[in-house]
Amino acid sequence: MIIGKLVFGKDGLNHGLELCLSKAGLTAHPVTEATASGCDVLLVSMFWYRNVYELELFLRNSGIKKGSGRPWIIAGGMQATMTPEIVSEFVDFVFIGDGDDHLGAVVKEVFESGQCTHPHIYRSGDASVPDPAMCAPSAYMIRTNDDAGTLRCEIARGCKFKCAFCCIANLKPYREVSFADLEDSIKKASGKRCSFFAPERACHSEWSKIKAALKKHNCHDMGQDARLEHLGEIDGGMVTFGLEGISEKLRRSIGKPFSDQMVMDRLGEFVSTRKNIARVSIYFIANLPGEDESDWENIWELFGRIGKEEWSRRLVLCPVLNPLSPKPFTRLKEAEIDIFAPYGDKWSRLLRRDGGQWGYRIVETLVWGPLERTMDAIVQRGKTSGARVIKRLSSKILKGMPPSKDRVPTARAILGICANEGIHLDYLEGRRKDIA
Ligand code: SF4
Repeated sequence: MIIGKLVFGKDGLNHGLELCLSKAGLTAHPVTEATASGCDVLLVSMFWYRNVYELELFLRNSGIKKGSGRPWIIAGGMQATMTPEIVSEFVDFVFIGDGDDHLGAVVKEVFESGQCTHPHIYRSGDASVPDPAMCAPSAYMIRTNDDAGTLRCEIARGCKFKCAFCCIANLKPYREVSFADLEDSIKKASGKRCSFFAPERACHSEWSKIKAALKKHNCHDMGQDARLEHLGEIDGGMVTFGLEGISEKLRRSIGKPFSDQMVMDRLGEFVSTRKNIARVSIYFIANLPGEDESDWENIWELFGRIGKEEWSRRLVLCPVLNPLSPKPFTRLKEAEIDIFAPYGDKWSRLLRRDGGQWGYRIVETLVWGPLERTMDAIVQRGKTSGARVIKRLSSKILKGMPPSKDRVPTARAILGICANEGIHLDYLEGRRKDIA
């Protein structure tokens, strides 16, 4: 049996698939458009909305068709689990949830019979979607094959928190790999670049032991994510955290009740205790339910308060704004959004202080515009009709982002195809609950 594997995007994201293959005792070979049809079974890992467009382009260019058995195509991963109806229109089988303990049985049955009766498999047209499979994490470690090569090891799965926009806690229970099980992997990472990761790794109940062991074995820990309460857990000069709401009011509404004062205190403490310049990335979400101009005034005030602090002269701030993507398995799955809201301009004015300066260095970041938001909403909400839209898109659109000036017209053109397939903008934006 020849098994192929297809992973889009960053190399480090293939940890899940490699873990499943390792537990199943299987070997899979990376495929290209030219080689994929030589496999018996093709495993596709789908992490985010773009992978659905990338998969359509890949299938188109490789000449592979679902249902032909050359090869049988099985998709899994976070996006496949969240939106199996649309994904199943491109592949033969969609695995729902964690595949760690199940991939072996699924691949065997598919290879031998072209069928799959596994309880966590979804096929297009099935009457219902199975609940996600839930498997315990393990201390399995992979080495990414980018130039530097980083060892990656999962230390916990799921999350103790339940933020309204995030699906993690609703897809899987919170489970940890014990320090005793991790110790060997930490020793193997001695002197190497590594990432011992989890959705919120500093919340691991044995984090202090893990951190001490990473230090003791001289591991080059690349992890720089932390919740605001845990910024002090980061040793280096770089940290990334999610504030999400642009105001206290919005943060409270989504389950991250961080006050502006708390932001000032924790950020100030982090920057002041670094040896050199502190580089801080903060993630925000625009278009949360209830957002109005007072929330934008709030974030302007917060940026101004930071600028008044002496410590901010040693700060490089990289704020990132992502407009809300309402996802299945989240409390905000039916939230209304405004795909054409001019968040790019609003954000740029804030970061440039309307032509002035904040008194500390800001790294400018781009914001998803109407094209990215349209393409995302088609995947998150479009179901089988969304697949028909994607199959009608030109390869040029599937390939990637057009130049900035063409993006809004492209979004409008895609929405025209959506309307032909019964998906109206009102539906994608959540004001209408059913596809026509
Ligand atoms: S956003 Fe972070 S803290 Fe909130 S539920 Fe998701 S993983 Fe947990």
